[in-house]
Parts: sequence; structure tokens; C-alpha cells
Amino acid sequence: MTTDTASIEPETPQTTDTPTATHAFEADVARLLHMMVHSVYSDKTVFLRELISNAADACEKLRYEALSAPDLLGDEARTQIAITLDPDARTLTIEDNGIGMTADDMGEALGTIARSGTKAFMDRIAASSGSEGAQLIGQFGVGFYSAFMVAAKVDVVSRRAGADTASVWSSDGLGTYTIAPVDIAQAPARGTRVVLHLLEDATSFTDRYTVERLIKDQSGHVPVPITLREKPD
Ligand code: ADP
Ligand code: MG
Repeated sequence: MTTDTASIEPETPQTTDTPTATHAFEADVARLLHMMVHSVYSDKTVFLRELISNAADACEKLRYEALSAPDLLGDEARTQIAITLDPDARTLTIEDNGIGMTADDMGEALGTIARSGTKAFMDRIAASSGSEGAQLIGQFGVGFYSAFMVAAKVDVVSRRAGADTASVWSSDGLGTYTIAPVDIAQAPARGTRVVLHLLEDATSFTDRYTVERLIKDQSGHVPVPITLREKPD
């Protein structure tokens, strides 16, 4: 595995008055991450489908909650997903203005295997031979953690709809993650920004045509508009 974490600085400055908390991944998550990062035969492109699907789910959840709490929409009633490619910084960013997550939500959602699909995947892996895992990753759609097949580090900056605080989750996928408060001026007004600091062998995911084709092929059915832009414009 290629890790070049030395060149990677946190994208989002953290507020200094509250400490950063470091947590260990649940054992099953650590095992899953290790397997994904080391399964060279698996289709790494699924990460984009998974992250877009999470962004769309978050927009769906917001619309649902807004039925009984319309104020959650504020002046941004239209939900959307924005993907930004930055070849110079070697990052791919997916931002949605959906429901968002609190720091507690992040600890639960991005540190455990709460998800039934991932659980089923882990059970299947336990029962299978080693080489089968690579194919199974594509079949089961292993969710958020698939980001670590292409990223040396992932930052998730999120602000829950209606909340006046925001948090950042960060990890290199190697065993621990951190959660810290972040200045709301640095966070989406509502929703979640996932920043992938791409591995050296995954730089093709800052190429506009590659990503455009993947979105069309994998996420054509997504019911939320997706925009794609390249930095600098
Ligand atoms: P699943 O989508 O099947 O639940 P994932 O591993 O893809 O599993 O995501 C885990 C959880 O992380 C989601 O259920 C959700 O609670 C949270 N999550 C991930 N991405 C986002 C996002 N963009 N906005 C809000 N919550 C998210
Ligand atoms: Mg998902």
C-alpha cells in the first residue's frame, strides 16, 4: 500500500478551544479496512458509487425530516451533490446539502459496522476463502469504508441540519480516527463534505472525464442533481 501521509495537511482548520478526540475503529471495521486496502483485484471505482449513494441518502433523509420540520430546509430547499476534483492538491471532494451528522452521529456511523449490508459482507467473508473477498467487495457494496481503497486519508466535515456547530472526522484508515469541532465557517451550511486525499496510484480520480464517465455508469439513477467541477476553474 502506498501511503504518503507526510505531504498531507488537514484541509480544514480545527477550532482550538475543544480537544480532538482519537478513537479506535471497532475490530470488524479494522479488519474490513485492512482487507479492502490489500485486495488488489477488487474494483476500486465502487468508492464513488458508495459515496454518491450516501450523499443522496442524506438528501432523502433531509426531505423526509423536513415534512414535519420545514425549517430544516432554510433557504436551501433544493438538495444537491457537488463533486470537485483538484489535481494539484490530489483530492476528490463530494459535498451534499442533506441531513448532515453531529459529532455523535459520526462516531456511530463512521467507526462501527452498524450497517446491515456490511455485516452480511463480513459474515460472508468469514465463511469464504481469501481470494473471494475481492469479488465480494463489488457485489456487496461495502459503503463508506471503500473510500480507503483510493485514499490515504479521508476528512468528513459535517453540519447537521438545524445545528449551530460542525465537526470533522479524519482517518488514514489504519486503525484510528479523530473527531473534532470545526468552525462553522469552514463547514457546509448544511450537510456533509467528504474529502479524499488520493493515493499516488489513484490520481486518475482527479481526471474529469474518468469521473464523469463513472458517475454516468454507476450513479445515473441517483434522484439528486450532481455537479462536477475541476479546481482551479
Ligand atoms: P449505509 O449507507 O448502508 O448505511 P455506509 O457505510 O455507506 O452504509 O455509511 C454508513 C453511515 O454513515 C450511513 O448510514 C450514514 O449514517 C452515515 N453517512 C455516510 N455518509 C453520509 C453523508 N454524506 N451524510 C450523512 N450521513 C452519512
Ligand atoms: Mg452507503
